[in-house]
Amino acid sequence: MKRQFNKDFYQVQSQQWKKSIVLLLILIIFYFFAIGFVTAIFLLSFGLIFSRFGFFSENFIIKLFITISILSVAISLFHLYDARKFGAQFIRRRLGAKSPDSKDRYHKRFINTLEEMRIAGGLPKVQSYIIPTYAVNSMALIEADKSPSVIVTEGLLADFTRDELQAVIAHELAHILRGDAFFITLACSLANFFERLRQAIEPEMASSGGIPLKQEATGGGFLLYLALTLSSIIMHLISAFISREREILADAAAVELSRNPKALAQAIYKAHVKNSFVGEFNLTYSPLFIVPPYSRGKDDSFFNNIFNSHPPLIRRIFLLTDMIPTTPAAIINEVIEIQKTREKSRVVLHSPEEKLQKKLSFVEPPHALPSPQEGKIWLIRTPKGKWEGLHTLEELVYLRTFSPLIWIKNIQEQIEAPARDFPQVRNALVCIGKKKHLNPAKQNLCPRCTIPLKESYYEGVAIKFCPKCLGKLIDSAVMSRIITRKEVNFSDYLEQKAKSFQKKYMANPFLIRKITGEKSKNILCPNCGAKMLPRPYTYYYVIPVNKCLSCQKIWFDTDEMEILQFLIEEKLKSPSTPSIDSLDD
Ligand SMILES: [Zn+2]
Ligand SMILES: [Zn+2]
Repeated sequence: MKRQFNKDFYQVQSQQWKKSIVLLLILIIFYFFAIGFVTAIFLLSFGLIFSRFGFFSENFIIKLFITISILSVAISLFHLYDARKFGAQFIRRRLGAKSPDSKDRYHKRFINTLEEMRIAGGLPKVQSYIIPTYAVNSMALIEADKSPSVIVTEGLLADFTRDELQAVIAHELAHILRGDAFFITLACSLANFFERLRQAIEPEMASSGGIPLKQEATGGGFLLYLALTLSSIIMHLISAFISREREILADAAAVELSRNPKALAQAIYKAHVKNSFVGEFNLTYSPLFIVPPYSRGKDDSFFNNIFNSHPPLIRRIFLLTDMIPTTPAAIINEVIEIQKTREKSRVVLHSPEEKLQKKLSFVEPPHALPSPQEGKIWLIRTPKGKWEGLHTLEELVYLRTFSPLIWIKNIQEQIEAPARDFPQVRNALVCIGKKKHLNPAKQNLCPRCTIPLKESYYEGVAIKFCPKCLGKLIDSAVMSRIITRKEVNFSDYLEQKAKSFQKKYMANPFLIRKITGEKSKNILCPNCGAKMLPRPYTYYYVIPVNKCLSCQKIWFDTDEMEILQFLIEEKLKSPSTPSIDSLDD
């Protein structure tokens, strides 16, 4: 195989600009016919009036032709400029891609592997992004400033071995080095223009995924919608036909970089078999992805092959396995074996209740603090003038009736006064304002056991947990990662607990409301000290948890996190999977 990477990266990009002339020509032809068509309809409707003034002379037709031509070139140039300038950014935002979290183990592995491969490929700088979905897919983009970026999904990071991750990154870097990424980003960005236009005209249509909620009564609106939809389809066809051979070539170039055709074949097969669906918008962006984002359950039939942006799965795998002494069947078997081994290697989690039942040695942590009953010295005056209490200072300031002007009483000092007159209260209010814990001694303590929380990793995510009750404090932003990853498994006891919870509560909103209400209302966030609110995890998974609306942390009491994870994983195994949005809430 000939080495093709000795050219300077930026030189390759400028060559791609020359190739983009083809795109410009297609655009000009498209706009010429579109404008011509509209003009023709216009002239025909008013033709009777105009013909009297002799507008249809030969001179007029030539002038019209020139005008339309100039107009089409101008619009096409602007369209191409817009795509280059805003395309990559728009696509990233549309897919919800975010920068990796350097504290997360999986994200770190991605950053490190990308760095290794970037150096191997001789690229100056590559940005990394992650799409928070459990689908398995990846893509490369060229940003407006010409810097390349590689984007992978959470599902891919959770599911791929290091070799497979390396192979996929090599594939994306190959696209970048060969210049495909520039061209495909540009072609796919052309469709953004119409999408943004459509969003601007009818915002409610965009939010419902392009399907009009209510039929427009005006014919003009409908015609416009039709024109824009048609344009989107044409853009899709353009992008579909340019990228098929590129995938095969990038696969070959990736092997040059990673020297591991087997891992790439496994990765492509895995991504195909897994749910690769990334979102509603996938149709226009599909050429960007390593496997088409709707690949699951798709057969390699003739019809699919024509309209598919990617070469058939079996052809890609066959070409890769041809480089080494192996067969596609062996690759598929190996993938199944890896999955089985990984499934077996999952760590089984136990409930602390189990340990008590089995009378396992359970070491009482040494840091137990004085009872939280301490300091219940505050009374608050109700609107009817009665004293109500006793409360601790923390409870007091989070009471619904509390305000800085309300009268309160300190029974220790026997003082009655408006709340703001007490220095303790003023201090507490300043702490709330600064999002600090009211009582610094309670910072970072388990809200149930009042012992210090420990830092740990759970499925590669940095969390805090209580060593006694195994309650967990988790940032709500990382929940989708925990659910995507499969390092842990659950003991029979936990499985049973989860299933009986599901049976008893999931279908019964009243019971859910009851147990949510019963959850202690006086939990303060161990992180910021704000009052946590008992809430169902999501509308879909109604397991009640305590949420901090101030710093977006979730406190999971004993086994709640495990039950939630088990129920969601069970749900994802069934064919009708909810979208990632219902996981994130
Ligand atoms: Zn605890
Ligand atoms: Zn908080």
